[in-house]
Order: sequence, then structure tokens, then C-alpha cells
Amino acid sequence: MFFMADINVRDLYRKEWINCYSTEEFENEYTYTGNDLGVTFSGEEIYVKCWSPYADAVSVRVFLTGDVKTDTKIQDTIAMTKGEKGVWSAALSREIFENQYYDYEVRFGKNIVTACDPYAKAVGVNGNRAMFLDLSVTNPDGWDEDRNPNQDMPWTDMLIYELHTRDFSADESSGIKNKGKFLGLVETGTEYTQGEITVKTGLDHLKELGVTHLHLLPFCDYGSLDEALEYDKELYNWGYDPLNYNVPEGTYSTDPFHGEVRVRELKETIQKLHNNGISVVMDVVYNHTYNEEYCYNKLVPAYFHRISEDMVNSDGSACGNDTATERNMVSKFIADSVEYWAREYHIDGFRFDLMGLIDVNTMNEIRRRLDNVRPNIIIYGEGWKLDTGITKDVDLATQANTCKMDRVAMFSDNIRDAIKGSVFKEDEKGYISGEIKDVEELKLAVMGAPEWAQTPAQVVNYTSCHDNYTLFDKIALCNPDISFEERVKQNKLAIGIVMLSQGIAFMHAGEEILRTKVDSNGEYVSDSVRSCDCVNAIKWSDLVKPEYMDVYQYYIGLVKLRKDTELLRFPCPKCVKSAVSFYETDDVHVICYKIEKEGKSVIVAFNGDDISHEIQIKEGLDGYQYYVAEGKASATPLKSVASGTSSLSICAKEIIVLKK
Ligand code: CA
Repeated sequence: MFFMADINVRDLYRKEWINCYSTEEFENEYTYTGNDLGVTFSGEEIYVKCWSPYADAVSVRVFLTGDVKTDTKIQDTIAMTKGEKGVWSAALSREIFENQYYDYEVRFGKNIVTACDPYAKAVGVNGNRAMFLDLSVTNPDGWDEDRNPNQDMPWTDMLIYELHTRDFSADESSGIKNKGKFLGLVETGTEYTQGEITVKTGLDHLKELGVTHLHLLPFCDYGSLDEALEYDKELYNWGYDPLNYNVPEGTYSTDPFHGEVRVRELKETIQKLHNNGISVVMDVVYNHTYNEEYCYNKLVPAYFHRISEDMVNSDGSACGNDTATERNMVSKFIADSVEYWAREYHIDGFRFDLMGLIDVNTMNEIRRRLDNVRPNIIIYGEGWKLDTGITKDVDLATQANTCKMDRVAMFSDNIRDAIKGSVFKEDEKGYISGEIKDVEELKLAVMGAPEWAQTPAQVVNYTSCHDNYTLFDKIALCNPDISFEERVKQNKLAIGIVMLSQGIAFMHAGEEILRTKVDSNGEYVSDSVRSCDCVNAIKWSDLVKPEYMDVYQYYIGLVKLRKDTELLRFPCPKCVKSAVSFYETDDVHVICYKIEKEGKSVIVAFNGDDISHEIQIKEGLDGYQYYVAEGKASATPLKSVASGTSSLSICAKEIIVLKK
């Protein structure tokens, strides 16, 4: 008699519940600390548990498949029993139910809703039903021996490459078979040939470039693409719309219908990356959910989001809702989820989307949990200060609060905007385009010391990422009248500043081959979140053109130089301060500094101007050799400085690096 069509989650919201969720009374009564929410296998039983303190009844409904469209027959309905702290549980026979699918039917008064399990670890197509899957069957051979290849690497040694899974392989010129799939990230021997020239693509390209960490845009199950459809070049999404936080996205697997396939394929992919010396960073989006109909909101109405007494969702994320991370059971859910990815999938780092919406206590709990899994898992995020309706008096994980968190790094918009101009004003120029207003900011940035940071290991230096325009397009937009060659020089200057700065080095995939995002009207695309493959895919065929190959070689040279030069990668602020000194230059466009320690020294010079300049080096340059000059970068010396020289001549938009 309770069976009704699914209702809108809003119909379940009660003002009196919303008003008490963040009170001490509620949290004392209902905070559950067990680690067994969701499904656990034990002997012949499958245990199912969910947290739903205000429900009047909860049942598990079982189905043969995970597809709600084609399979509506309920095989079984098992009533759950309410226990302590608002947790409902049931025990099911493993023999009968293993590998079948389930959801929860939850009753509040006369309202009934169905919900996926927020703790689901495997789901059917489109993530509506969870699966009773014993995860050990998804482990590839050798999984127990799988390790982070850069486990002991100091954070300031890391070189992070930010990529969308699909962009890597979608273009025909990738030569990759598993287009748009996890497995496409790890095909080897792929290349593109035109005439006499052959270039490496895919994983071989990544290895050639020399990055240490592959940061993948969100790959937990997201909501905006229909997984049941055939691969469609027009249907694309970045994936910042999480649906099931503990499950891989189905469109990246070769079979989204069978819950175990995506789990196994992602593990295989991570294992192969590890075997090729590359660590994996996961972009995680706990600050908001795909929409309000999020499954946890059906189990505990309106609990998961920051919502006002008038039932208006806080929207600091600009995605329609903000997660109430400060509530105990949300905080626990996030920490459980991050820990799960680190343990089950061997993830080596986490990038927190809009981390400034997450509270400091939750970030510190995540840090503590990850330290218990493995040492040295990197955490970084967007510490932007955003307006959000926080429900408790707690601090948020913004740049200003870096001092309240241990080993949580943040993106430096200071260096990003100083280099190329504000990302919010498309024609605003930065240092590389001759603008001098942020030169002092840039000097702090190259020392890994924007005002909010205590140490360079907290600072992620970058000039572009998936957001906004690509670096090369931004340069074009604010310099419409200059030639391609001149734009290339600015692009090289931009990445040079990032690679030579103290801190963590980060780059956007394709930056090294002048990535551009242009739509069918010839317009540059900012925020290509829903653009087609033709806009987003990396065009490997560009690499055969000499001017693109030249830029790529410059990136490779800088990466090698950074790896070879300890003085560019100090882990602590004291080392930077005692080693770095700036030279006076006769023009504000010219920045020049020396890094010196224990008899070794490096001199770095940037010229953002359109004309050449001379830099006086009083103590002389005897014994120095050039590693970056005249548009080339190398880990081995390009040439020696003539003896008796005490000045450096630096051309327009040029970088010079000397080492002794
Ligand atoms: Ca999905």
C-alpha cells in the first residue's frame, strides 16, 4: 500500500529537521562511527547498512540487473532493522544475492522514495542501483604488489599533468584504440606519422615529457552523460557532477552495464601507469553534488547540503548546491570516500575541487586518514574564498587558512594571473605580454611564497588548467595583433616561469603542444565543459609541425632541467630565503635572480618586454654555462659563458638559465 511513484526529494524536507542537523543534540544522538556502512561480505552473508535517522522504514530491493529502464522486476524486498545512531541493517545470503543489484526503499510517513546506496562501490548503468560485488574479484594480477612509483618523492619534486581521460585518445591522430576509455590512457607504442615524421602519442608521449603525476579530471560516477548510449563525439562532459562518489564513471569503461567491469578496468589502468613510473592524482568533487536528488538526501532529507530555513540552497559552487561538509556524517562520508579510493584503487594524490567550500576539520581528518593508508599521498585543491551558507561556526579550507592544515597544498592564482593576466578578463594582459603591474607578486611567486603560503610545498604553480581558455588561446585573445611566432614566445616564457619557480609544478595537458580550443565558428572556447571531442581532444597531429615540436622540446628540456637542479625544488621556505637573491635590473620588465647553495648556483632571468635588455652581474659570470637561452632549454649545457663576462644580454620574451 506504500508503493507510489518516486517523489521529488523536496517533498521530504522538513524545516524542523533542517534546523536541528547541525546542533550538538542531533550529532550526539546520531553520529555513527562504524566503518561498515554500505555492503560488507562476511562468510556466507552479505551485510547491508545505511544511515537514515528519521526514516520510518527502510528496505533493500533486489534486482537481477542494474538497468532501471529494462529491468523493473523486483526479485526480493528485505526489510531492514533500525539499530543505534539511526543505522538500519540487514543480512542477506551471499549464495543467493552476490552479483545482483539493489537499492533502498525508504518511508517517511506516507512518502516513499527509492535511493541508490551512497556507499555503493559498484553500480549498474547510470548509477541508479548498487551491486553486491565482492571487490577482490576485480583485482588484476599483481595488484597486491602494485605501488606508487614516486612514493617517497618530496612534493616540490612533483610534475603534475592535468588531463581529461577522454581528451587523451578521442582524436583519430592519437592512434589509440580504446577511445575515451580508462584503458586508452595506458596503450603503449601509439604514434602519429605524417610523411617522414613520426611522433609518439598517449602514454609514450607522457613518458617522453617526463611528468611524475597524472592528474585526471573527475572519474567517479557522474550524472550528466547517459552511459547507455553508444560513444558519441558530441556528448561530452568534464564530470564535475558527482552521482556515486565511490564508483568509477561508466562512460570510461568498455561496459557500463556490468558493475565489475569499470572497477577492474580502472585498477588495470592505475597499475599500468604505476608500472610506467607515473603516479595518479584523482580530481574529487565533494563540494557539491550533481543535483539535489542526490541519494544521501533521500535517506536523510536535506542533510547533505547547506540549505537555509527558507529552503534555499547555498550556491557558492555555482552548481546549484553546496555540500554541508561541516556536519559529522557528511564529513565522515567524505573522509571514508577518500580513504576508500586510496586503499582500494591505490590513488596517490587528491585534487579537491572548490576546496574553499570544505571545512578545515574535514580536510585535516582526510589528511589523518590518508597518512594511515600510506605516507606521502599528496593533497591539493582550489582554496578560493566563496560565499557559502555554512551551518556551523567552523573555518573553511581557503588559502587564508593554509596555516590551519597540515600538508594541504593549494593552487596559486597569484602566479597564474601574474604570468598571463586575470582569467576572468579575457583581454587583460600579464607579465608575458608586457604588463608590469604584478611584477612584485611574480617575484614572490617564483620563490614559492605567495602571501598565503607558509612553505613552497603548499603551493601549486601553474599558468593554465582545464578551466577558462587554454594558455595559447588566452595569449591570442589579449594579443590579437601579434604573429604566431610572437605568441609562441609568450607561451614558452609562461611555462618557463612555472618550471623554474619554487613549489609544485603543474601543467595543463596539451599546453606543451600549444593546445587550442576552437569551436565550429572559429571562436575560442572558454570552459569547454560540454563541448564536443572536436574542441576538447588533444590534436596529436600538430606535433609533426616543426614550430609545435620546438615548443614540446622546450617543455621537455625544462622538465629535465628542473629534475636535475635541486636548487629549483627547495622543500622549505628557509632554504629558499637563504638561497635566493634578486639582482637589480634597469627595467621593470626584467626579473633576474640567483639561487645559491653549497657552492652550486643557478641564475635565472626573464624578460617580459618587447625589446632586449642588459643585466649587470657584478660578481661576473666566470664558470657559468647556459641551460636555457635563445628559445632552447636543456638539462645539458647549451654553451659556456665567455670568461670575463659580467653582463647578460636577454632578448625580448626570453628566458636565460645559467648554472655553475
Ligand atoms: Ca555516470
